[in-house]
Amino acid sequence: MKIPPSNLASSECLFCKIVAGDIPANRVYEDEFCIGFPDINPQAPTHLLIIPKQHIGSIAKAEAEHAALLGSLMSAAVEIARREKLSKGYRIVVNTGDDGGQTVNHLHLHLLGGRHMNWPPG
Ligand code: IMP
Repeated sequence: MKIPPSNLASSECLFCKIVAGDIPANRVYEDEFCIGFPDINPQAPTHLLIIPKQHIGSIAKAEAEHAALLGSLMSAAVEIARREKLSKGYRIVVNTGDDGGQTVNHLHLHLLGGRHMNWPPG
């Protein structure tokens, strides 16, 4: 996969520091394009974050040429869910921007499982 060069790692970005290994995280998943690690403030028995190694501020910043990368993030989340044996189901969440409740400005998927999820979300 060819990744557009426009999104370089940000030295100010918390998740870029995790990708770089400057902040520790238990990498339960890693491939060429993304990593998965536990959320520091879990909202479910299983709560993992899947992030691209490349800095993209949010899904709203993704361009058409990132389509393959976005697909690989989703595939990683599904693979992790299988490994975590979330056979009863799970939720994948992408908080985006202020109204979406995004607090870390590096695209990430939340993978939540191990309990029943309510709808609508708060
Ligand atoms: P957001 O609110 O959708 O942007 O999600 C950001 C998530 O990152 C939150 O659920 C935080 O608990 C989580 N988080 C913040 N800092 C760390 C960290 O250092 N390690 C793991 N998760 C973190």
